[in-house]
Amino acid sequence: MTMDKLRIERAVHEILAAIGEDPEREELRETPKRVAEACEAIFSGVGDDPARYLEEAFEGDHRDLILIRDIPLYSMCEHHLVPMVGKAHVGYVPDGKVIGLSEIVNIVEAYARRPQIQERLTAQIADLLFDGLGSRGSMVVIEAEQLCMTLLGSQKPGSVTVTSASRGVFEEDGGKRAEFTTLMRPPG
Ligand SMILES: [Zn+2]
Repeated sequence: MTMDKLRIERAVHEILAAIGEDPEREELRETPKRVAEACEAIFSGVGDDPARYLEEAFEGDHRDLILIRDIPLYSMCEHHLVPMVGKAHVGYVPDGKVIGLSEIVNIVEAYARRPQIQERLTAQIADLLFDGLGSRGSMVVIEAEQLCMTLLGSQKPGSVTVTSASRGVFEEDGGKRAEFTTLMRPPG
């Protein structure tokens, strides 16, 4: 998807003027252009269908939990367009189909790089790995600092919001959830 960068530039110019800044000030002159370029990276997931990464799935008889922990996560809260920064732990139990670890990272990124809320982001990843991939179950835990809450004063800096979503065997079996949470913590 291509973005209307000129339109973003005009809008940022307008915001700078509206907050009482001088958009023509030397140091700010290139800012609208830079923000437009940043938007292309930050919102690269808009219009992207993460299900396309499932096409890389392959047959495999692994029937135990596969977990990737500490996937770096950068997203934008859709209420304030302020970053949330943290990490995602993503696991699933295959049912004949296995997906590469880099594809899981791509799925997380595609859902994260768009205006989001943490709860939906967590659920979307879990749903895709359960319904989309056709697994026995999936579980996702996201730990992130919502910078809007910090900036706007409702939370202390460094406070972390944790969300989780479990599907299939993880929803039905507390033991499976416990296995996930044990493995997502580094030992020690
Ligand atoms: Zn927010």
